[in-house]
Amino acid sequence: TEVEPLVQRYDAASVKRLPPRAADSYKNQFGHVLIVGGDSGYGGAALMAAQSAARAGAGLISLATRPEHLAAALTRSPEVMVHPVISGQELEPLLEGPDVIAVGPGLGRAPWGEQLLARAGRAETPLVLDADALNILAGGRVLAGIKRNDWVLTPHVGEAARLLDCDTEEVLADPRAAAIAVQQKFSGVVILKGAGTLIAHEQGVDLINSGNPGMASGGMGDLLTGIIAALIGQHLSPLEAARLAVWLHGEAGNRAAEDGQRGLLATDMLPWIRRLVD
Ligand code: AMP
Ligand code: MG
Repeated sequence: TEVEPLVQRYDAASVKRLPPRAADSYKNQFGHVLIVGGDSGYGGAALMAAQSAARAGAGLISLATRPEHLAAALTRSPEVMVHPVISGQELEPLLEGPDVIAVGPGLGRAPWGEQLLARAGRAETPLVLDADALNILAGGRVLAGIKRNDWVLTPHVGEAARLLDCDTEEVLADPRAAAIAVQQKFSGVVILKGAGTLIAHEQGVDLINSGNPGMASGGMGDLLTGIIAALIGQHLSPLEAARLAVWLHGEAGNRAAEDGQRGLLATDMLPWIRRLVD
């Protein structure tokens, strides 16, 4: 892979890449996003990904999660169509409608998550894989040997190390080489997250520096996943969606951190995602 110079070319005007919200718009034009995740103990991650997709402009959002999270999810986010699933078989009919499927936030690594990833991974719909979907993928028992051009993988350094079967230190020593190696192994678009996020793709590697250390807290990655899915649903290519989403996510974090970095919550960023995509 040829490596292009690292670029930082996103700003508030970049959202003009999204389709305009014409006066006669209807929801189906802006994408139906399905989020798959939230095993026992991790329901919030999947819900935050769904909320973030909603705030990034998705037309419709479905969430497939553990039945025990149904009431809480609907209470917090009645806009989200929350589907309780206890097996891969129950997920199957939900895979038909969506324009993009994001798997991983709160998915866990138990058989429940493995089954859901195995089913979702077979859908002919663009995918975003994050968190435990990546850890399961790294295990090699699910989606073994699969490469897809229409997926976006969003590892942090620990997940990237698992995907490459190496130590985290190796990834940290040369993050750019690691991002390229993950991309070559799995194809598609690979977002290696951190303070300074690398995006590896067919044509090269980009660096997008946005965000702040206040974002080193739980839930932040789940928001990014939701934004990427929402932008793919709004007809950006996986690569364009990845680039714009990484910038938006960091910028939302910067705006939200004007009230303080320490104690910044992932959900504090949701109103900023909304303002920035308009
Ligand atoms: P995750 O580890 O999956 O929750 O993802 C954390 C998200 O927050 C990623 O998008 C990171 O790029 C971002 N993030 C975490 N720490 C920092 C930091 N120190 N500076 C900038 N962004 C960060
Ligand atoms: Mg994460």
